[in-house]
Amino acid sequence: MTRSPPSAAVAARGRDVPSPAAPLRLRDLDAVALAMPLPAAVRTPMGVVADAVALLVRATDDDGVVGWGEIWCQFPRFGMHHRARLLRDVFRPLAVGQAYGSPADLWKALTTASDTLRLQAGEPGPIAAVVAGIDIAAWDIAARRAGQPLWRWLGGAHGDVAVYASIGRGEPALERVGACLADGVRAVKLRSTGGVDEHLAVVRPVRERHGTDFELMLDLNASWQPSCAVDGVAALAEAGLAWLEEPLPVDAPPVLWRRLAAAAPMKLAGGENMVTAAAFDAALDERVLGVLQPDPTKWGGFSGCVPLAARIVAAGRRFCPHIFAGAPGVLAAAHLLAASNAPDGLLEWPVSHNPARDAMLAAPLRAGRLDLGDAPGLGFDPDPALVARYRVDV
Ligand SMILES: [Mg+2]
Repeated sequence: MTRSPPSAAVAARGRDVPSPAAPLRLRDLDAVALAMPLPAAVRTPMGVVADAVALLVRATDDDGVVGWGEIWCQFPRFGMHHRARLLRDVFRPLAVGQAYGSPADLWKALTTASDTLRLQAGEPGPIAAVVAGIDIAAWDIAARRAGQPLWRWLGGAHGDVAVYASIGRGEPALERVGACLADGVRAVKLRSTGGVDEHLAVVRPVRERHGTDFELMLDLNASWQPSCAVDGVAALAEAGLAWLEEPLPVDAPPVLWRRLAAAAPMKLAGGENMVTAAAFDAALDERVLGVLQPDPTKWGGFSGCVPLAARIVAAGRRFCPHIFAGAPGVLAAAHLLAASNAPDGLLEWPVSHNPARDAMLAAPLRAGRLDLGDAPGLGFDPDPALVARYRVDV
């Protein structure tokens, strides 16, 4: 069956979810959890990471077409068990056997049906992530049925995206940056905690060693004390940062964000920890963030994030989706970015080895660009033997 792609106008219409005619009825929906050992444990502000995990969604439609998605489950790692139960016990009965006009209709139905549970359970994050993962799988099915890669089916002009190298804490930043630049990457993000002196101690040597002919960003993971941030942010001007990411927690009072933005000599970035449409609406209205970073495995999938990306681009902000996931999540973020036609968008690419991504990703990364090619849907077809080897019970 061949279906028409959604027009760019539909995708860019604003707050509406994209609604191509892509009738959908699922006959099965399940979670596939993977845990793949890392060479060494990594300590992060959110906990110690000893293995790469990925909670995949496997959806099958009435004709047997299989689509894949991914549900955010990085912190805490045992959250994958709860999210898998949410998928099976709450959302599978709602999704399977019902006829929907499009994946977007499914997303709206699941979101609406879980509104009360989301509030009563106090779990907007896990519930939004499960709905997002199902949505990604539903769009994968729809584009596969259309015989189109998602980036093109959703209105993208070309299927390769620029990445930025995301370097973790504890990694040798000078060497990592040098290797990334040698590979053709033109944007690099570092991480820091503490105060302005610690931040300068991270970025200064990198500029001194590697110069200024590339974009440099700094991610504080919401760690800066508000008063110090407002007073100290101007001192970071010497680093020529393309953006300063999450200097404050996402739920810090808006007045603090406004004061920081007024003092900052660079763009502020955030969005990876926003899990409601209202939060993104507020961020766009506040005009504090110059760079918006929604994560399609945390909130929205394609149904929420495609129109959100259009609003970000239309507002003149930079669209750089966050992603820290296995292969289907990375592919979802990449297709989303390509479909947005954002002129200066960048895909986050953690440089540390992630077997849940690297062992299952067919799209090549060359000279700082990920090429999605013409494979239908996400372009994700995992090796059954690999899945069987690393699958864990959830
Ligand atoms: Mg971040």
